[in-house]
Formats: sequence, structure tokens, C-alpha cells
Amino acid sequence: MLAQLLLEHGQGHEAAPVLEPFRDEPDPRIWFLLAQAYFAGNQLEKARELAARAVAWHDAQMKRGWTGAWDRDEATEVGQLHDELVARLEGEEAVVHDHAQRGRLIAHAVNFKLLAGKLTAESPRIAPTLRLGSIEETKALGEKLLAEGKTAEGLCQLATAELRRERLSSAISLFEQAREASPSHFGAAFGYGAALATEHENHFGLVARLPASDAPEALQRIVPDWPALTRAEGRVVCASALPLERFFLALAERGAVMRILPMDVRPVDLPELQELAGERADDDHRSFAALHGLASDRIAVASIGELLDVTPEGWTFAHELAHLAHGSMPDSVAEGITALFQRAKKHRWIWRQYQLRNENEFFAVAYTDFLLLKYGFELGREKDDEGEMQRVFDFIAGLQAAPPPNAG
Ligand SMILES: [Zn+2]
Repeated sequence: MLAQLLLEHGQGHEAAPVLEPFRDEPDPRIWFLLAQAYFAGNQLEKARELAARAVAWHDAQMKRGWTGAWDRDEATEVGQLHDELVARLEGEEAVVHDHAQRGRLIAHAVNFKLLAGKLTAESPRIAPTLRLGSIEETKALGEKLLAEGKTAEGLCQLATAELRRERLSSAISLFEQAREASPSHFGAAFGYGAALATEHENHFGLVARLPASDAPEALQRIVPDWPALTRAEGRVVCASALPLERFFLALAERGAVMRILPMDVRPVDLPELQELAGERADDDHRSFAALHGLASDRIAVASIGELLDVTPEGWTFAHELAHLAHGSMPDSVAEGITALFQRAKKHRWIWRQYQLRNENEFFAVAYTDFLLLKYGFELGREKDDEGEMQRVFDFIAGLQAAPPPNAG
């Protein structure tokens, strides 16, 4: 449509008069486009009213269970525009307040992009170390940095240590101080969002519901940061990984690793992922630099700031590990996923838009949905009556039972 074209070509303000006659149509996509148009024309109040309407529509849809709602990326874009407008009109702190009032304070840290995302994409590497330390090591590093006069860097480490110890108000206050010391420090902004989400969504309480188990030796080879993890973090890693245990040996033997990154490290800070810096995914508007989870052929990463998020929008570690495992599956299993994906494309309305992009995303998103059900959490949307989703979940459950791929 014309308005869309104008927006895409940077002539957004010209789209407003085109769309204005339709503003009371019951179509949230028009509200969103018109909000973008007003935003482009710097008419922020008008833009905010429409963005707020679109966000409220989305929240109501979510409560009813996703059917017909926007997919995750669209919802993120609408939410970001709204956040941006609130921030410009009332300041950054109002964004957090606004989320709290809407009862969904920062669903997960990727949604904290307003404060952290732009900083993350624009920043050079800021991390003193790329390797995740234990709580004690993280605390010691923080104290050393503070002594050297690196205030934001040091406070970010101390805050992270407090967050990982479940001392949430102390963590939040330290992250706030770090942000004050250096507003462009993306680790502090990201950690602040992560700490708020941890508190508001009760991540520690949810994680305590996961079974405690030991990590098999092969899993510890795949997750080299294992020794640095707390008990709660280890629980999430095991719960995320064990249904894929059948593929551990193959993964370990081909040298695949799943890294957990410190709060102030981005995927692209790792030398192995550096060539992705500045690039953009083909079908993804987000810059790789801004993402806190990423999987390539041999290495996948998830941030410590998202590890404990086991809500329907979380499970970043499991999502990325699923991508990694997908690459180590024997043909018979991979073909099973291909067949399920072909079938899913005939029942598109059942699935999330995001997961219909390709069979890798199809599997990874289905896998984290499978985990939600396996551990007795809410799926966050309705299962279909035809049993299409259940068919996929049964397939994933079956992966556990099968013999190791290289057993003979
Ligand atoms: Zn993915």
C-alpha cells in the first residue's frame, strides 16, 4: 500500500494524510502505520495515541491466547515504537513505569531494546573479559575495576553478581548507579532490564520448579562455562538441554560449543562471531550486534541476562542450543523435522509467524514450547484442536527415547 511505501522510503510524514481517514477502522495495522507516519513527521503526541491503541489491542489479544495476534516481531516493533514515544515525551524512566502499569514489565531482556538495544548496536566492545566467571570471580573483577576508576564497568560486574545471587533490589540499585555513571554502557542498561524482569516475572521462583539434575560429561564439554554457573543457572541449562541428550556426543565430537556470555558481552564480541558484526540477518530487521542470543554452525551463545527467563518469551539458551543440535542430527531425524515443517506450512494459523520462516526456527521455537509444557508451565497460547502442535511435541519427546545416533 502507498502508506507503507512512503514509510519505507523515508517519506513517512507524507503517509499521515493518506492514512488519517482510516484511523477509526478496527485495524491495528493501520493504527501502527499511522503511528509510524506521525512519528516520522515528529507529531509525537498523535503518534503515541495510536501506538498505545495498537499496544492495548495486542495485550488484549495476548490474554485471549495469541490467535490472530501479531507475531512476536511485529509486537516487538509496535512495543518499541510506543516505548520510544513514551521515552521522548516523558523520559526513559516513564517507559519502565508504563510497562509496570500494563502488567508486563519487560517481558524479556530483548524487549529492553529501547534502553539497551540501540546502545548495544552502536557501541564498541566494552567488556573487560569475554568469559563468564563464577559469582566470586565476577565480584572480584568488579572490585578491581572500581579500584581502577572504571565505575560503570565495575558496578556492572558487582550488580551482575548480586543478580545471580538473587539479591534483586541490590542488583537493581547497582545497575542504576552504573547507568548513571555511564548512560552509554549497554551492559548496565541490559542488566537493569534483566534484573527488573527477573523480579517482576519471578524467574527464580519459576526456575525452582525445574527438576534438579547433574549435567552429563558430554554436556559439560558442550557448555564450557558450566563450572561458573550457580545451582539455579545449572538447572536451566540441564532442563534446556537434556531432552536433546541423544545429540550431545555428536555435538561434542564436532567441537560445537554453547557459550553463556557475561552481561556486557555481545555475541559479536566473540572472535568466532566477529564477521557478523554490522551485518544484518536476511529476513530480520534486528542487527546481530543487538541480539543476546545467536547460533552459527559450530557455536551458539546466550546471555547470562536471559538465562533464567523461562517464561513463554524466554528460554533463549534452549532456543540457541536447539539450533546447534539441529546441525548434528542424523538425516532420519532432520528429515522428520522437514516433513513437520512442510505440514506446518499448510496450517499456518496454528504456528507463530516467526517459526514459519524456516525449518530451523520452526524446530527451535517448537522445542522451547515443548519445554514449557514438559515442565508444567503455561504455553502462552492455545493448542489447536486438530492436534497439529501435539504431533510436533510428540516428535520432540520421541527424540529423547531414541538411541544415540552413533551407537552403531
Ligand atoms: Zn532462532
